Amino acid sequence: MNDAGEDEAIYDELGVPSVINAAGTKTRIGGSRIRSEAVAAMQRASRSFVRLSDLQAEASSRIADATGADAGYVTSGASAGLALACAAALAGRDVERMAQLPDTTGIPDEVVMARTHRIGYDHAFRAVGATIVDVGTNDRHLGTGATNVEPWEIEAAISEETAAIGYVQKPYTQPPLEVVTDVAADYDVPVIVDAAAELPPAENLSRFVDEGADLVVFSGGKAIRGPQTTGVVAGRAELIESIALQHLDMHAAADVWTPPSGLVDVDQLDGVPRQGIGRSMKVGKEELVGLIVALESFLEEDHDERRRVWRERADRIAADLSDVAGLETAVTTGDGVSVAPEVVVRVDSDAARSSATNLVRALRAETPRIFVGSDRLEEGIVTISPLCLEAGEIDYVLERIRAHAACDC
Ligand SMILES: *Cc1c(COP(=O)(O)O)cnc(C)c1O
Repeated sequence: MNDAGEDEAIYDELGVPSVINAAGTKTRIGGSRIRSEAVAAMQRASRSFVRLSDLQAEASSRIADATGADAGYVTSGASAGLALACAAALAGRDVERMAQLPDTTGIPDEVVMARTHRIGYDHAFRAVGATIVDVGTNDRHLGTGATNVEPWEIEAAISEETAAIGYVQKPYTQPPLEVVTDVAADYDVPVIVDAAAELPPAENLSRFVDEGADLVVFSGGKAIRGPQTTGVVAGRAELIESIALQHLDMHAAADVWTPPSGLVDVDQLDGVPRQGIGRSMKVGKEELVGLIVALESFLEEDHDERRRVWRERADRIAADLSDVAGLETAVTTGDGVSVAPEVVVRVDSDAARSSATNLVRALRAETPRIFVGSDRLEEGIVTISPLCLEAGEIDYVLERIRAHAACDC
């Protein structure tokens, strides 16, 4: 039974096993629960028509208010936001370049990144034609005090071929963003920040813009709890304009092409662009409205209270499992990799009935499936996140973990 009082998910009706999410906002299992007010707004949006550019212009001013940036744009996810941000850095206002991408012949196309910032999501940069130039080492892991990347290494990689600097924001990423944006400013190179999962705290909406980022990308389907297929880009007006031009549907007759002036300055363009590289990352009116409403709710939410509830639930889960032989539990404060407190369960496979890996496997095979965090299996650790768990689901999770982990000897 979920908190809405429904005892059967649509997935059961379809014959597809449903999942209890104790792993946090993971796209593989559906991300987060979209806010009910966003769903209601999407249904209303579906009943009539609107010019998508007008809707994006309204979203832009709301994103600007929320982030302190000049402008904003709604994309079909943070990953699409990264692709479009990079496309904007590559093409700017040049309609010929827009038409040419992802072929970057004759276009500066290098994205400089610290090697330790390389993640699977940077494929989005390469997808629009960029080449990633990564610098630095993994020396920090030697424990000698050496750093992974020095600011001069980023500076030395900047050349005539540089289109942007890519930066992945996590509480542990080095060097600090401000140091990188300082270097970038000296060479007039835009910095694109992947902050997909860095909300809450809500202050992070404006933090990276304040620290000098040119474009910042957030996922709309994580803590904002908008539609899964939404993302937010906030940043400089000229780059946001380029995103719009490469994303909106461009089958337009030039004489009647009058995009909203808040989003596109027609006088600055050589003509109407063709369908751009972003056209295959469409955002519908329903998703756009859903994101706008969800962002508003996210801004109004009492984040301290939510945190208190997460902490309480994490403590309860940790306390309950602490008497199972072979399980050792601790609760993180949530200021590390994850934005919410999390229960860290160390599984001693000699004392418990299961190893961490087997426990993850067994829980996933339950009906409904249970997904716990499995990022630290090689340390013998599973994690339990309260972020996407409803109150009524906790007992089921605890009971099934006990059933698989507790030794009946
Ligand atoms: C989740 C995530 C993404 C992708 O976000 P989507 O909205 O699912 O496209 C990109 N980068 C990082 C660091 C993420 O955590």
